[in-house]
Amino acid sequence: MARPRGARRRAETTRDRLARLYGGTARELCALDHANPYELLVATILSAQCTDEMVNKVTPSVFSRYPTPGDLARADPSVLEELIHSTGFFRQKAKSLLGMAAAVEESFDGEIPSALDDLVKLPGVGRKTGNVLRSVAFDLPGLPVDTHVGRVSRRLRLTDQDDPVKVEVDLDTLVPPPERGAFSIRMILHGRRVCTARRPACERCVLSDVCPSSTVPAAQRPAAVEAGWAAGPEPGGP
Ligand code: SF4
Repeated sequence: MARPRGARRRAETTRDRLARLYGGTARELCALDHANPYELLVATILSAQCTDEMVNKVTPSVFSRYPTPGDLARADPSVLEELIHSTGFFRQKAKSLLGMAAAVEESFDGEIPSALDDLVKLPGVGRKTGNVLRSVAFDLPGLPVDTHVGRVSRRLRLTDQDDPVKVEVDLDTLVPPPERGAFSIRMILHGRRVCTARRPACERCVLSDVCPSSTVPAAQRPAAVEAGWAAGPEPGGP
């Protein structure tokens, strides 16, 4: 399907302004505490339906008890479930963690792979998690598409697609490979702080002059942009 009209120009403006608003590399912007690809993979699996803050409270004890994929593969499931209980869906997450660790041991000599095709073969690892690993842990191109990235991209008409893989394909044509990971995190931050699902705060959005979905009246948009820059993002973590 053809890209929406003007998408390339809106994407350039979006990349530029969000980079000013939410500065840093993908690694610097990532809110999940980790020291290596294995720890990031564990934290990302635990982050499903859970806040980053809660994950960061739980992971230190998981990492100290199971410092390598081999240690995790040999974990007692009931002990692991107890450790990760507060992140929710703990039985399914424990199963994913144990399966992931066993597969990393068996198929990749205990090293987390960096190729997306290999990552998505691991239990509990989908394309979104694989792209988080690639961009944050390995500094490789990867554009994770979650609900925020999809919603904000559609409102900005960078894509018309609903399917996350198709959204990723569209965004890959608009965002250069080295920027993709940071761009994704910036869109997530913007979706959480400004362009929220229920009520987008267009009046203080730095993209309101270029966004086709803006609720700011056309005559007021330049002023709204200035106000948006002055106000910056809402306080509070991503
Ligand atoms: S102008 Fe409104 S709809 Fe568009 S990106 Fe900003 S908050 Fe979202």
